[in-house]
Amino acid sequence: MARPLLFVVDRDRGSLSEMVTDLTRRFGNQFEVRGKSSATSALAALRGAAQEREPVAVILVQDAEADLLGSAHELHPRAKRVLLVDRDYSSTSPAVQAITLGRAEYHLTRPWADDEMLFGPMSEYLLAWTREQEPSFEMFRVVAADGDPRVHRLHDVMTRFGMPYGTYSVGSAAGRDLLDDAGLDGTRLPVVMRYDGRVMIDPGMPELADALGVNVTEDARTCDVAIIGAGPAGLTAAVYAASEGLDTVMLEEEVSGGQASTSPLIRNYPGFPHGINGGLLMERTCEQAWLMGAHIVFAQRAISLEPVGERRVIRMLDGSELSARVVVLATGIEWRRLGVAPIEALVGSGVFYGAAVGESRAMQGQDVFIVGAGNSAGQAALHLAKHARSVTLLVRSESIARSMSTYLIRAIESTPNVTARCGTEIVDGGGAGRLEHLTIADRATGTAEQVPANALFIMIGGEPNTQWLPDDIARDDHGYVMTGSLAGPPVAGAPERMLLETSMPGVFAAGDARHGSIKRVASAVGEGATVVWMIHEYLRALEPVS
Ligand SMILES: Cc1cc2nc3c(=O)[nH]c(=O)nc-3n(C[C@H](O)[C@H](O)[C@H](O)COP(=O)(O)OP(=O)(O)OC[C@H]3O[C@@H](n4cnc5c(N)ncnc54)[C@H](O)[C@@H]3O)c2cc1C
Repeated sequence: MARPLLFVVDRDRGSLSEMVTDLTRRFGNQFEVRGKSSATSALAALRGAAQEREPVAVILVQDAEADLLGSAHELHPRAKRVLLVDRDYSSTSPAVQAITLGRAEYHLTRPWADDEMLFGPMSEYLLAWTREQEPSFEMFRVVAADGDPRVHRLHDVMTRFGMPYGTYSVGSAAGRDLLDDAGLDGTRLPVVMRYDGRVMIDPGMPELADALGVNVTEDARTCDVAIIGAGPAGLTAAVYAASEGLDTVMLEEEVSGGQASTSPLIRNYPGFPHGINGGLLMERTCEQAWLMGAHIVFAQRAISLEPVGERRVIRMLDGSELSARVVVLATGIEWRRLGVAPIEALVGSGVFYGAAVGESRAMQGQDVFIVGAGNSAGQAALHLAKHARSVTLLVRSESIARSMSTYLIRAIESTPNVTARCGTEIVDGGGAGRLEHLTIADRATGTAEQVPANALFIMIGGEPNTQWLPDDIARDDHGYVMTGSLAGPPVAGAPERMLLETSMPGVFAAGDARHGSIKRVASAVGEGATVVWMIHEYLRALEPVS
């Protein structure tokens, strides 16, 4: 089979030839390295590769030829684009805008002191490409009707566990062959087949989790710490609690990762300058918690919590119970999603859930849209307007006056490059690997228009997963769990209430479900780690004084 291509484009012929030689020396066994010294010759070569169906893994382009990246992406949408820039850590470096707006996935800075500074990052980019190729071995095969929404969920679960799988339409020859082999007629779909012959028809979460080889039942009935929710806050709490010798059980109603694993690219998590796939980050954290000794139980929803003496008893949907000395509520929130598939596919590549502050500089001269009508959307619009060419607020209702403070409305009205379009909604959007256009419909007339767009911030709110908690756990008007002094004075005789402790002694909250939380992966991780220190303090205070 032909080796996948690694393309290098650099106007400086001397440097180009050196890079091609060096990269061939290191990666030549698996990849064919080709060099071009102009955008025109590179484009012709890339076009030829597309016609010959030669796979292109990486396109490394000197910033002077950066315009090539758009056409290169159209020809080879799966290739990783790397911008080669000179060392310049100012906010005007071309790498800043290219990466924020999804025009390139990575950058390389030159000069490099030794070859490893080129080879190290390049290995990472090639690995990222390799991971996204069709698996040569499918651990699971899914046969389903075209457009069945349950397939999306199956896809989500398989992806979160990093399982190689394939999906086959029931209308295809391959799909029918698979059903025949399993002795099924396809009247009940979707069918999930494991490599060893196990067949599941329209499996529920527990059956699927079991087939994936993860725990769905907890044999232990007692533990030191029960953590509810396996998003970034719960997983981090599990890593720390288990590593510090506490007998830890984590309950998750679905599979691990929480909201974070629905994000294809988390760009603001420290240590990952080019961003990291949220699913991958969470998968690694989950594995770390397991290796530290945490008992992780999937497909188990906590439905009630009550104090019994000095212990806290959690009841699960399947009727089983778990008694813990301490409970951490890390159940997060359910963000309202826009639900427009082509837009969801571009999250991280010009489409962002949540506030825009961190991305504002990269919006220099761009056309930016915000969906939402709350104060946070208004504040984001004003902030982005300092850099963007235009900011458009898209609002479903006929007016923003009901949902936004008057001072913000006035500020928006007096900012010339901000416009509010009321009575509108997004019905479509897309671009070549990054957001380039949106289709906006007028809700009253039904007419739709396509507009150019470089970035979209979705700020339509969410609800905390806390409805199941008892009244003893104080919550704010929106259901977020109150902690620390906001949860009220300590119960008589109980140790002093700490920053992440709820109104029920021995029950802590971390991450998005907590009142006043920051709604970021890093802050949820920080709270997950901090809460374990507080658990130690709480348990120490309960020990009899000798
Ligand atoms: C599309 C998207 C993109 C995002 N991008 C970014 C980004 O780029 N950068 C960033 O910093 N933040 C981002 N965020 C926000 C970030 O993901 C969240 O702030 C973070 O995941 C919160 O972590 P958490 O652990 O508090 O809660 P969650 O991640 O919400 O996890 C909570 C977990 O609890 C489980 N659960 C709920 N109720 C129960 C129950 N009763 N029993 C058992 N389990 C239960 C849920 O199934 C879930 O797995 C994004 C969010 C979304 C939706």
